[in-house]
Amino acid sequence: MKESTNQLLKPVTTKRNTAGNLEIGSCDLVELAEKYGTPLYVIDETTLRNICRDYKSAFSKYEKVNMMFASKSLCTMAISRILHQEGFGFDVVSAGEMFTVYKAGADMSKVLFNGNNKSFDELTLAILIGVGRISVDNFFELDLLNEVAKSHNKTVDILLRITPGIECHTHEYIQTGHLDSKFGFDLTQIDEAVELILNSYTNLKLHGLHAHIGSQIFETKVYHDEIEILVKEIARLDEKFNLKLDEINVGGGLGVKYTGSDCPPSTYQIADVIIKSLNESVEKYGIEPPSLFIEPGRSIISTCGVTLYTIGSSKQVPKGRRYVAVDGGMADNPRPSMYQAEYTAEIANKKEDAALQTVTIAGRFCESGDILIKDIELPEPEEGDILCVYNTGAYNYSMASNYNRVQKSQMVLVNNSKSDIIINRETLEDLISHDVIPDRLK
Ligand SMILES: *Cc1c(COP(=O)(O)O)cnc(C)c1O
Repeated sequence: MKESTNQLLKPVTTKRNTAGNLEIGSCDLVELAEKYGTPLYVIDETTLRNICRDYKSAFSKYEKVNMMFASKSLCTMAISRILHQEGFGFDVVSAGEMFTVYKAGADMSKVLFNGNNKSFDELTLAILIGVGRISVDNFFELDLLNEVAKSHNKTVDILLRITPGIECHTHEYIQTGHLDSKFGFDLTQIDEAVELILNSYTNLKLHGLHAHIGSQIFETKVYHDEIEILVKEIARLDEKFNLKLDEINVGGGLGVKYTGSDCPPSTYQIADVIIKSLNESVEKYGIEPPSLFIEPGRSIISTCGVTLYTIGSSKQVPKGRRYVAVDGGMADNPRPSMYQAEYTAEIANKKEDAALQTVTIAGRFCESGDILIKDIELPEPEEGDILCVYNTGAYNYSMASNYNRVQKSQMVLVNNSKSDIIINRETLEDLISHDVIPDRLK
């Protein structure tokens, strides 16, 4: 089957140029580092558009399909603009994400608002800016949303987020569909929720069911199981309440290749499993084919991004590891310290054919856990070298912090030898711009 972009380790335009330096989007990474400074997030537009098209062509076999991008993986105005241009809607989880995609020009009717504790203000904003669907997570929210909708004299279109009770083999913190999860209604609670919607919450209109089973998923069977459960529930609700639900949202979760040993399925394989399972279940349970929504994040944006760092100090622990420190770390990429995530890197200004050393890449932040990559083979790293860490497009910038009061890194979009800033580097003034010294301390 056709390979797809999420199965690659590096952006599709990555190569060594005649100077021997790595380039992406025909931009020399060493020159980018010089021009913009490091740490620098670099996003390759070609890779991003390729993967959007992979997804669209993979799912084109199902007639009623709607692609959304899970904004939480990387939410900036320029990235949202590209996704919008590619025809994607958005899955958003906060007022901040909602506002960003809105300002970027997203079609708000193609936006779904998700989350397990949406606030009154966020629900109000969602109604005011015309978010297409709200995925209701719990009984408290049903009640709150109905109140907000009523006070605005609106009927709000909703999905119910359900917990299908599927275990997938990924890190515990990124599993979401197992039974004892903080997300969604348990299967045993659906009837009560539906009764409330039909009988009491007259400002809510239920369109379908939503689930998301986890992230960095490599098995395809979990999607089959998830769809079977969703379709079965839709058929059961029709039987019991004479309720015609015509939307199912299967979430995101497809994995990517962080290291050579990761072998994620392609978007084509995932699409085949999802469409086949959907067609089979529709047949088996005798419902009308619903509109299908998918909302991947990581598998769209991860491979598009790399982070450039400048190598600084280096030390050999006697009888221990050799640590090479870079000018970033857990504040721009918290995933290694949070999830023991693994990454691959190369030195942008040194060819791989030089003699290799095993080193450990340490971050600059004041935590022993701030290690970006353990035991990686690189050509002798020296002070001033530019390290390129692959697959940092997803959940890096979006999880970044100002730990140690270090400015967040800037981000550039590269394409056809052009590089454009899409997020400016924070300045020292930015860092203190929200600080206030109360009068009584003056
Ligand atoms: C996080 C999330 C996604 C995206 O997950 P990825 O693993 O990045 O594809 C999609 N839907 C929901 C509800 C999520 O919480």
